Amino acid sequence: MYYVSTRNKEDRRTAAQAIAQGLAADGGLMTPEVFPKLSQNALETMRDMSYQQRAVYVMGSFLDDFTSSELSAFASRAYGPDKFDVKAVAPVRDVDGNTYCLELWHGPTCAFKDMALQMLPHLLSAALVKNQEEKTVCILVATSGDTGKAALEGFKDVEKTRILVFYPKDGVSAIQQLQMVTQEGENVGVCSVVGNFDDAQTGVKRLFADPALREQLAGRGFFLSSANSINWGRVLPQIVYYISAYCDLMRDGKLQKGEALNVCVPTGNFGNILAAYYAKTMGVPIGKLICASNSNNVLTDFLRTGVYDRNRTFYNTMSPSMDILISSNLERLLFALTGHDDAEVRDYMAQLNQDGRYEVSPVLRDKLGKLFAAGYCDDTRTQQVIGRMWNEHKYLIDPHTAVAFEVLDQYRKETGDASPALVASTASPFKFCDSVLGALGVTELEQGTAILEQLSARTGVAAPAPLAGLKDKSVRFAQNVEKDHMVDQVLELLK
Ligand SMILES: *Cc1c(COP(=O)(O)O)cnc(C)c1O
Repeated sequence: MYYVSTRNKEDRRTAAQAIAQGLAADGGLMTPEVFPKLSQNALETMRDMSYQQRAVYVMGSFLDDFTSSELSAFASRAYGPDKFDVKAVAPVRDVDGNTYCLELWHGPTCAFKDMALQMLPHLLSAALVKNQEEKTVCILVATSGDTGKAALEGFKDVEKTRILVFYPKDGVSAIQQLQMVTQEGENVGVCSVVGNFDDAQTGVKRLFADPALREQLAGRGFFLSSANSINWGRVLPQIVYYISAYCDLMRDGKLQKGEALNVCVPTGNFGNILAAYYAKTMGVPIGKLICASNSNNVLTDFLRTGVYDRNRTFYNTMSPSMDILISSNLERLLFALTGHDDAEVRDYMAQLNQDGRYEVSPVLRDKLGKLFAAGYCDDTRTQQVIGRMWNEHKYLIDPHTAVAFEVLDQYRKETGDASPALVASTASPFKFCDSVLGALGVTELEQGTAILEQLSARTGVAAPAPLAGLKDKSVRFAQNVEKDHMVDQVLELLK
């Protein structure tokens, strides 16, 4: 199977090349040329498999240059009991008999990024061997919180890789900072940057674009790469959990063979919901794809009107991983729905780049409307939903997940569509203790890691071990640099 750029379908690569490359040379995203189809039989075959086996089964159909024994080894390392605190890896919780919640935060950093970032490093390091790359890859990340920690845990001690994460000194929560500065592993580096997320991100972009640095690193046997969510190696592992959830619901008698399941996803960069769309394309009986946003509702407007317009106010919300105005992975959806019309995609992306706006063709708008529904939810409502879920179902959810529950509710009321639905739950509530405690009516908040115990005491729910254990970890990385000095950190790590 070959992978092509969304901006030039003549640019064909193997899976190993697509994963090693990340972004295509023309700025497009590497995407499968054709999607393998699952038969109904395949779902039944997978029904009694473990999560790891399902991952091998699904990923194998996309990665024909990887052997199934390679993939098995990766899956058991990525999703083993030392990494995930439940055997099911991505368990499905029955909320009310017709609404199910797919918990994607049982991994080492307690956010759904782990589902892909536990797998990507294995795919990448094997891809480098297949491509006969002799140099060691160094992953550079600028993070606003979740991605940096998940990437560090994923790449920790993976052969032939190094990773360096920059976070804004004043832009992450106390818990997120502690998660990063206590990071273990011999091949990792973490450094804070004076300023906000934009300063860190601009600094990283400048490092990637610095030819003198590249040359110097090549001399030392290194090259730079990124682990952001446009890499195919991050999208693919996400398809697995939608298929897995459907299998679980069949196995447990909650869905009949072939029964439609709507899926509602709290969305930022469009990677997670895109994976659900791909699962549907492959033949999983998924009904509507419901895209949930916070007050940064650029996707709600797009899916309803066909006009994408990023020229609008940016809000900092209590669901920060969805505070995004350019959803990069949407480009892959446009490529799919135009029937791989790379010229049309190029045109939309050029308009987005130039004017921050584009309008899709009427044909495309109709397709979007058939497949997707969309809605959004502000912070006040988000906290009400957290409170209501706790009071009615004794189910503690984080603000991102709450946005999705609210938008699913709106969708059901507006359309009368009462099909069973699956909500993707993307973070542990313990990552956002302050907003969650606020939603439960607590006004005096503890500082530092004590806030974890405060939320546990209030609810009787135990904090996940990786967060509870933070208070005993020692700080390994205390460096703080001006953004013009980030290069020194790279040269120091890659001596
Ligand atoms: C990254 C993230 C999202 C958004 O996912 P996308 O794939 O970017 O749409 C939602 N919730 C949480 C907690 C996240 O970390």
